[in-house]
Amino acid sequence: MASIIIVGDGPGGLSAALFLAKAGQDVTVFGMDRTGMNHAYLYNYLGIPEIDGPSFQQLARFQVTSFGARIVDEEVEEAAVEGSGFSVSADGGSRGDYLVLAEGKGLRLAGALGLERDDSGAVVVDRNGRTSMERVYAVGQAVRPMRAQAIISAGDGAAAALDILSTEAGRDVRDWDTPPKTDE
Ligand SMILES: Cc1cc2nc3c(=O)[nH]c(=O)nc-3n(C[C@H](O)[C@H](O)[C@H](O)COP(=O)(O)OP(=O)(O)OC[C@H]3O[C@@H](n4cnc5c(N)ncnc54)[C@H](O)[C@@H]3O)c2cc1C
Repeated sequence: MASIIIVGDGPGGLSAALFLAKAGQDVTVFGMDRTGMNHAYLYNYLGIPEIDGPSFQQLARFQVTSFGARIVDEEVEEAAVEGSGFSVSADGGSRGDYLVLAEGKGLRLAGALGLERDDSGAVVVDRNGRTSMERVYAVGQAVRPMRAQAIISAGDGAAAALDILSTEAGRDVRDWDTPPKTDE
């Protein structure tokens, strides 16, 4: 089992947490529910005709914790490389094998770690959210500052999570479920 630190509790971070926790990984999400989602009203999240942002966040937080992810209501001031993994200043000094940055527009940790950025300031990532630093991923508004949409952040988080799961498994992993069997 890998341990994953996720900084950011908007749709990007929580989506990564969902896929990783559902697959049995040790997941800690840091954030204080200060996402712009709390001011949004969504009509453009496919599959959900409409929902207010705070209700979306409440559902998402419930969903990830019900699969075993931990949400720690603290700000991460610092992140550092420690051995083959990472440590963060919050929660008494949490450690993880992977670091997923879902900081939204803040980008403080991405800057402090010296991740490659483009001319717009966005963190440079590949299509699975891998940054210029091994085992560090960036997702959501952090990588697409001028194209911020909840469903895009959630998709980014899912792609990063599957990449971590695939790296750990040494093969491509997908998370497909089928309806529960019912007795007729
Ligand atoms: C008024 C308004 C209306 C909107 N309406 C829509 C809409 O209708 N549809 C739509 O798709 N999108 C809408 N959006 C945009 C949507 O909110 C964003 O696209 C989405 O929240 C981005 O998700 P994210 O996970 O990338 O980042 P964010 O949601 O910004 O999440 C980042 C989180 O990480 C936390 N964080 C950052 N750094 C740290 C740290 N060091 N330690 C701990 N926590 C940290 C932040 O406090 C924040 O909670 C709206 C936004 C606003 C402001």
